[in-house]
Amino acid sequence: MFPQGVVAYLKLFLTHAALAPAKNQMSDHQSVGSAPCFSMRCFVPEAIPPTERTRVVRESHRGVYDRETIDKILDEGFVCHVGFAVDGQPYVIPTLYARVGDAIYFHGSAASRMLRNVSDGISVCITVTLTDGFVLARSVFNHSMNYRSVVALGKAILVDAPKEKLEALRAFTEKLLSGRWNDARQPNEKELKATSILRLPLTEVSAKIRLGPPEDDATDYALPVWAGVIPLSLTPGAPIRDEKCDPSIPTPGYAARYKR
Ligand SMILES: Cc1cc2nc3c(=O)[nH]c(=O)nc-3n(C[C@H](O)[C@H](O)[C@H](O)COP(=O)(O)OP(=O)(O)OC[C@H]3O[C@@H](n4cnc5c(N)ncnc54)[C@H](O)[C@@H]3O)c2cc1C
Repeated sequence: MFPQGVVAYLKLFLTHAALAPAKNQMSDHQSVGSAPCFSMRCFVPEAIPPTERTRVVRESHRGVYDRETIDKILDEGFVCHVGFAVDGQPYVIPTLYARVGDAIYFHGSAASRMLRNVSDGISVCITVTLTDGFVLARSVFNHSMNYRSVVALGKAILVDAPKEKLEALRAFTEKLLSGRWNDARQPNEKELKATSILRLPLTEVSAKIRLGPPEDDATDYALPVWAGVIPLSLTPGAPIRDEKCDPSIPTPGYAARYKR
């Protein structure tokens, strides 16, 4: 049904997606608090219908709105970019995040400065981008990237409840390295107070996915120019022990065998 090249790219994409740490690590743990949405039993709609603001316009066939796809992208990424405006000046700040049920939790040191006097939240745009490959077309114009990205809009609220804050911090840690939370010292009261966490409900969200070979103009396929995809992936190196780390402490398996 598909040309062989397309099947290969589909395989590459599906393998990549399947290998990704796309499960929500929070679901493996007992919740320490009673904050809403920390249980995976909470209602998560199968799809979020696009709004006027989240409908992908250009290459609209690449727009995806089902929660499973959106969640997989969010769970594979670990850095998001948070966009917000202060006095008409847009800021886009990179930071860690974790999806927990139907919300994104993110470190809010920048945005929280504005939130002190805004109890009903701050309008944000959060993006997460996974880069899967350079797409080399025959023409410069048609060069592209294979990617999976998510854009989430809405009002982020400062998380006050210490239990919910703690759960969010655990989600950040466990998302990066499952098992680390229990090994490391837990945050104390002072550290918790010093940490700003914001919660954005996933109510207005879109994903966009580009995969597959270059798409050249019909007349360009005859050109003697190499074309194809250079796959990209994030490859962890071997763990480097801190000089101050007691050499008798073994490297934990989640660090020694970390894979993405
Ligand atoms: C790594 C990477 C490289 C890219 N390079 C280019 C490039 O060089 N040139 C180019 O034109 N485009 C590029 N894009 C696509 C780009 O992100 C936009 O999708 C594109 O500019 C067109 O947006 P639009 O006009 O459809 O939507 P806009 O009017 O800009 O946005 C409308 C709504 O569509 C949704 N949306 C738009 N883009 C995305 C997205 N990427 N992911 C999830 N939701 C989205 C959002 O909800 C947004 O509010 C790239 C994307 C990625 C991830």
